[in-house]
Amino acid sequence: MIVSRAWTGKHYAVLGLARSGAAAVRALLAAGARVTAWDTDEAKRDSLFSLPHTGDDLRIADLATLDLATFDALVVSPGVPLNTHPLAGAARDAGVPIVGDIELFAQARADLPPHQVVGITGTNGKSTTTALVYHLLDTAGVPARMGGNIGLPVLAQAPLPAGGVYVLELSSYQIDLTQTLDCDVAVLLNVTPDHLDRYAGFEDYAASKARLFAMQSPHHRAVIGIGDAASAAIARCFAHRGETITTIAPGTPLDQSRWPSLQGPHNAQNALAAIAVAEALGLDRAAIEAGLETFNGLPHRMERVATLGGVTWIDDSKATNPESTAPALAAFPRVHWILGGRAKGDDLDACAPHFGNVVRAYTIGEAGPRFAALLRDRVPVAEAETLERAVRIAAAEARRGEVVLLSPAAASFDQFRDYEHRGTVFRAAVEALA
Ligand code: ADP
Repeated sequence: MIVSRAWTGKHYAVLGLARSGAAAVRALLAAGARVTAWDTDEAKRDSLFSLPHTGDDLRIADLATLDLATFDALVVSPGVPLNTHPLAGAARDAGVPIVGDIELFAQARADLPPHQVVGITGTNGKSTTTALVYHLLDTAGVPARMGGNIGLPVLAQAPLPAGGVYVLELSSYQIDLTQTLDCDVAVLLNVTPDHLDRYAGFEDYAASKARLFAMQSPHHRAVIGIGDAASAAIARCFAHRGETITTIAPGTPLDQSRWPSLQGPHNAQNALAAIAVAEALGLDRAAIEAGLETFNGLPHRMERVATLGGVTWIDDSKATNPESTAPALAAFPRVHWILGGRAKGDDLDACAPHFGNVVRAYTIGEAGPRFAALLRDRVPVAEAETLERAVRIAAAEARRGEVVLLSPAAASFDQFRDYEHRGTVFRAAVEALA
């Protein structure tokens, strides 16, 4: 666990007790802080009582009923919408800092052995790039940890020995809750419209990502993908930092043939970003190449599930918006495309340049009828409604050498618990064909 002397004797309000919130409570208590915690989910509140504590250092109470001015900080989970949640407004009015677990980690850095931090953000590709950077470090024998949005709370991790590297995946929500994280290497992959319910508009969302660089010391390194206008504008804003900035332009020539889990133009961007990070951290070329070749990818991101009768089945359930589906379509010349779910927008424009690769589309879920209407004039469409049916119809249609791709371009919550559940159901349906 990572703890800081800076927290000792202070009193924190903690809102949201899922993985990162619970880890924050544990770390704060271990550092000798007092914690008053709340989550609307009773089971999550109850789980706190299993933590080691002295009795009066941990209290469960609805923070809405308390005077926030008595706390040193309000620690909130990234899932809490800061723009609309009443407690966020109350904390601002009371002048109480609103922080997240990544800010607590930033505060704890002074107590850690000498180390470096890599922070990775972007609308799409964060997890892949984070896992890849971690894998490159691991392959090169550098002690490293992954944390943040990738689902591993950083405060729950054992501190690294001197010379270690913490690789943090950071959503814009996490950046919004962080004020003093000075990344040795900060990465922005791309910024495209997403999560707009949590921001006043696209500019605010992009500005949130740009703060990752604003928090850095000017001599620290920045890696910025400039494949979209908003990211290119951010790179221009920081251009005065000169050689500490590496930009990644779309279409940079790159031989990906020896990297099985890094196919497609989006993974070229992810790989180039990870290579730039590895070089900034001083890894040698041979170690980087070895890591790129042995990287296994992540579940539900263009994950090869099976090859049956010469047809390859790919689970890209994590692609929950058209921008993240587009590169998956671009990666294969003959695709049977399963898409749909809860739509995040009203169009599939980002995917349109790759419709030529689509042999047939199979729509599912809430967005099915809308997506079918958008596609009908461009590609053959089957309105399959459910994922299991889409798999069965695609199995009958797909020919040797073709790919069946679940890349939904929509969220999963209409028919599934989450994108992982959707991917698992897909895999089970494909395995049932064998
Ligand atoms: P994140 O953690 O940012 O959601 P992931 O690495 O989990 O990103 O990838 C999510 C989906 O986005 C993948 O299924 C993939 O199709 C797509 N994707 C991955 N990298 C990129 C990229 N650099 N640009 C656009 N889309 C991408």
